[in-house]
Amino acid sequence: MSATIIDGKAVAAEVRGGVAREVLELTERQGRTPGLATILVGEDPASEVYVAGKRRACAEAGIADHHRRLAAEASQEDVARAIEECNANPEISGVLLQLPVPAGLDGAALTAAIAPEKDVDGLTPISAGALVQGTPGLRPCTPLGVMELLHVHGTALEGAEVVVVGRSELVGKPVAALLLARNATVTICHSRTVDLEGVCARADVLIAAVGVPRLIGARHVKPGAVVIDVGINRLPEGLCGDVDFAAVAPHAGAITPVPGGVGPMTIAMLLRNTLTAVRLQGQLAGQPS
Ligand code: NAP
Repeated sequence: MSATIIDGKAVAAEVRGGVAREVLELTERQGRTPGLATILVGEDPASEVYVAGKRRACAEAGIADHHRRLAAEASQEDVARAIEECNANPEISGVLLQLPVPAGLDGAALTAAIAPEKDVDGLTPISAGALVQGTPGLRPCTPLGVMELLHVHGTALEGAEVVVVGRSELVGKPVAALLLARNATVTICHSRTVDLEGVCARADVLIAAVGVPRLIGARHVKPGAVVIDVGINRLPEGLCGDVDFAAVAPHAGAITPVPGGVGPMTIAMLLRNTLTAVRLQGQLAGQPS
């Protein structure tokens, strides 16, 4: 058996194309162009690259760019004020604070100040609570990307045994909640899990979000399982995932590559979330969406 490769680049391109069509329709039909405010504090080079990528993707989809740039010396109050201004601006549909913020600022408190109906990263406590309770709200982008890949691949989730390795607020916990909402039987593993190999080997669907290069080997994977690798690890020889692709691909049913798997989905789902935010705001204001 050799695994089907789940092509995240192709799926992300589909999602982005769909968002661009919807943005155009919304603009023409309602005269309302969705807008995204990316807030970048300081000069962290990796954050600069990430924010530039998000802004470029927005522009390509026809979403208006309301980027805000603050100096590294900005105070907690300065950043909070910028967030409040974006919350209050009706032309801004989504607000994203690029993390990490410089030392001395409280990133969690600032994130919590984003209006829930504009929280396109889905990381505020209100969004996290809505996800767990299954009420309307914005969900985190990378977990949504994982769900989209599973959907496009046609993976059956109802009753399936799904194992998520990693319990971060950003990926592990929210993806587990999304899978539970689809009636999967979900197990979450972490650094204290006893017999990681044995637990993973039960999975029909195995999701690795760990940050340890090639942690998941052939013996962690049941023959025919669907394997989603969220990990992005930078090694001297290039990028690699949390899954040992060469060892696992020969007997998995399907697998995402790194790069080109989950990675491209995150920005695609950010764009889709910006549209979801427009609808959510319409619902809250009692307008037709
Ligand atoms: P994180 O916050 O560092 O969380 C890592 C999780 O893995 C923790 O829950 C940790 O357990 C667990 N873990 C660490 N070592 C382990 C081990 N040996 N066995 C079992 N579990 C172990 O990381 P994250 O933010 O979730 O990111 C995970 C990976 O995904 C990273 O490579 C990151 O770069 C990547 N990522 C990719 C995207 C994308 O767009 N594709 C987006 C976000 C993240 P404890 O809780 O017990 O410490």
